[in-house]
Amino acid sequence: MSDTEVEADPAGSETGNESRALEGASGPDEREEVSLRVEKLRKTFGGIVAVDGASFAVESGTITGLIGPNGAGKSTTFNCVTGVYEPTEGTVYFEGEDITGLAPHAVANGGLVRTFQIARELGEMTVLENLMLAPKNQRGEALWRSLLPFVRDEVVEQERDIRERCWDILDFFEIDHLADEYAKNLSGGQRKLLELARALLTDPEMLLLDEPFAGVNPSLEERLLTHIHDLQAEGYTFLIVEHDMDLIMEHCEHIVVMHQGKVLTEGPPADIRSNEAVIEAYLGGDV
Ligand code: ADP
Ligand code: MG
Repeated sequence: MSDTEVEADPAGSETGNESRALEGASGPDEREEVSLRVEKLRKTFGGIVAVDGASFAVESGTITGLIGPNGAGKSTTFNCVTGVYEPTEGTVYFEGEDITGLAPHAVANGGLVRTFQIARELGEMTVLENLMLAPKNQRGEALWRSLLPFVRDEVVEQERDIRERCWDILDFFEIDHLADEYAKNLSGGQRKLLELARALLTDPEMLLLDEPFAGVNPSLEERLLTHIHDLQAEGYTFLIVEHDMDLIMEHCEHIVVMHQGKVLTEGPPADIRSNEAVIEAYLGGDV
């Protein structure tokens, strides 16, 4: 490479960054405050329009609720945001970066993580084993590397770190007594705690939870909510899909209401509660 090329490059990338910054945010502070921004999202399945031009934003550090009657497009929106589906149209920004159409693991590596139901195969593993599998960029996974002696030490050390983190998180969720239990033997609520624990081990900045309280008994639901608030206090951002409006009203500071694939309205709980269109959508829907 010649000297001229080296000199030319910094100038070139500076210009590139500038134009990207202008494109990515509509105000200078916005990139700091907004974790997730969904713009004009559309997703069709053949003739079915599941999401029909939905736009909303999730502020950093909030617990935001995404509600709406069955079939409103909530889960499809989640799937488009987390890379499970490719949107038909529209853009998804996470922390100012365009993540539209990225594969799920790439979205997760970027810090935007959704909980997944524990797959059947994982039921045959213990709770601790399930957690040990979760962390991203596990060096132990690249087997060929462990043949190198200096990497082997690193792998052992890393495994010890991961094990420690797993115990910390078991402790945090008060399920340490279940560490050696097979995942398939957990109750619905305990399984939800494990799903959230697994998601946390991937070092997310923002967590998306799709109906995290479905099939969870009231005392575990209360615990799960306490954990979510504790995690919020540590700086995590949450977007929670739920059709129990009262629960969302009580625990979220901001609510996005979807109906027939569109964002009907958004705002603080008090505004949503008294919104005629929301009441009508819920009465009209089969909830
Ligand atoms: P919600 O989670 O709010 O209940 P969904 O996003 O699951 O709503 O569904 C929105 C609409 O899209 C529904 O009419 C649903 O039947 C349809 N839909 C969702 N996923 C698919 C799919 N994979 N194929 C066809 N239609 C789908
Ligand atoms: Mg759904």
